Amino acid sequence: MDPGHTEAAECELCEAAAFTERFHDDDLCWIAECESCSVPMVVWKVHDPDPPDAVRRTLHARLGEVVASRFVDEIWIDEQMRTIPHHYHAHARRRHGFPNQPLERRSRQADTSVDSTQETP
Ligand SMILES: [Zn+2]
Ligand SMILES: [Zn+2]
Repeated sequence: MDPGHTEAAECELCEAAAFTERFHDDDLCWIAECESCSVPMVVWKVHDPDPPDAVRRTLHARLGEVVASRFVDEIWIDEQMRTIPHHYHAHARRRHGFPNQPLERRSRQADTSVDSTQETP
């Protein structure tokens, strides 16, 4: 580890406590809904703002896959790190409509936790 860098201990993304639902989690990254924007975002599991290109491409690909499997909206990947500039993460923002409007989820598909008692006739 690099003692000259920003303390990972104080980093929200390293703690990852503030985030609600996790869509994906592996050795490289995790994907969850951003608490402030309510859109999915991918977070690299390394406390560094600047991943190598190959890693970035992989992160974007995973975010794209997760979003495509769960949401209806087309997205673009927003790499601006406004609030946490020292730890790489990228938001999946909707391509159409208001940028901060939550994405529309796919209905029920592969989601067993959804209570389906309110079926429309
Ligand atoms: Zn956000
Ligand atoms: Zn961090």
